[in-house]
Amino acid sequence: MGGDPVLAAPPEYRWPIVTEQDIKLVTEMLGRAEIAYVGQEGQVRDLEERFCDYLGVSHALAVNSGTNALHSAYFGIELRPGDEVLAPTYTFMSTVTPLFAVNAVPVLIDADEWTGNLDPSLLEAHITPRTRAIVVTHMNGFPVDMAAVVRVARKHDLKLVEDCSLAHGAVSNGQQVGTFGDAAAFSLQSNKHVTAGTGGILVTNDARVHERAVLLGHFLDRSRSDVRSVEYLPFVPTGFGFNNRIHPVGAALAVASLGRLDEVIAQRCRNAEQLDALLAGIDGVQPPVREAHVDRPSPYGYQPLYHPEELDGLPIELFVRAAAAEGVPVARAKTPPLHRMPAFQRRDTGLGTYGHFGFQGVEYRVYRDGELPRSEAYVSRVLRFPAYPQDEYSAQELFVAALKKVGRNAGALVRWARREGLA
Ligand SMILES: *Cc1c(COP(=O)(O)O)cnc(C)c1O
Repeated sequence: MGGDPVLAAPPEYRWPIVTEQDIKLVTEMLGRAEIAYVGQEGQVRDLEERFCDYLGVSHALAVNSGTNALHSAYFGIELRPGDEVLAPTYTFMSTVTPLFAVNAVPVLIDADEWTGNLDPSLLEAHITPRTRAIVVTHMNGFPVDMAAVVRVARKHDLKLVEDCSLAHGAVSNGQQVGTFGDAAAFSLQSNKHVTAGTGGILVTNDARVHERAVLLGHFLDRSRSDVRSVEYLPFVPTGFGFNNRIHPVGAALAVASLGRLDEVIAQRCRNAEQLDALLAGIDGVQPPVREAHVDRPSPYGYQPLYHPEELDGLPIELFVRAAAAEGVPVARAKTPPLHRMPAFQRRDTGLGTYGHFGFQGVEYRVYRDGELPRSEAYVSRVLRFPAYPQDEYSAQELFVAALKKVGRNAGALVRWARREGLA
């Protein structure tokens, strides 16, 4: 409505971090033409060993994306055509879309309306004789209640996969995410907390899952070194149709950023705790819900919840616009839940098939808007701030001062919007 903004501009969100040391290391690699590996060697070996050490798992397989790490996990746990997999509707799509590539059937599960994470109490009602696995995503760095998920998986003899792409280093009930199930995938894309630029990694304690994942996306040297079982040895020379190798330079960047992970998480947590404390005192914006089992989040963004009823009914869209005009880097949820997307709403995609291989007789589920209402409620009220990897306490104080100013003027904003025909 005019006037001076509280912040001239928000602080820059600088991520990914590429250090002088990273540049030196990569330059040396380029000088040696160290730009391709065929086996488990060099930076790839380092990356996999360090992931195993960090998580305390026996096997890691670096690949070229988080999406392919998930595809490898689904192939690894031996999903068969028509197997049903319980999966969150509120997640980045790559948690679920690789299920199409193995002709498995995603069964979308609603979210907890206050955390956005899959609600484990809803799982059992969706189990049928065809259910074979559960996949969960730890959204925005906050672990799903894994004790509850593991209980359901054990009781019904289901495989369990974790998508940890937004939660590197997060801890639930004293245990690292990525270590609760049969396999876990981490994206190493450039926005993520450990980054190769583009890349991903699959971890597991199950040698058979590892061998199958190797055979899906690696052949010759790499499969020769990793595949030991009599059953799978014959397939070492050919693999099974994909080349999922990560680039050595990406692997080197990921090794370096894994070394900085704990420090980065600690700073993101301190920024988040400051915002929690500041927001506790204002109307309209509720700090993110902290569940007791979460010992350490790995904050990927900062997501408080908006309550228009505390601000004269000011619609969230207007609140975000007004806050942005005050220089606050706030936005709404980026994507709707998957059940609202065409790939999950149409029986015929026009592609001829859903699964890559056109397996006959696999019936996919279709969903309607409103069918999984709690995920929609969450998306309708969640706000998104950057989780800065450096100290931004003074800027964050101004963010909250600006939100207070918007709140004080909520009534005037509603009237202004009506006059302008915006609300
Ligand atoms: C980023 C992400 C992926 C996909 O990773 P890519 O490396 O981009 O393929 C999968 N799941 C979640 C939850 C993600 O955030």
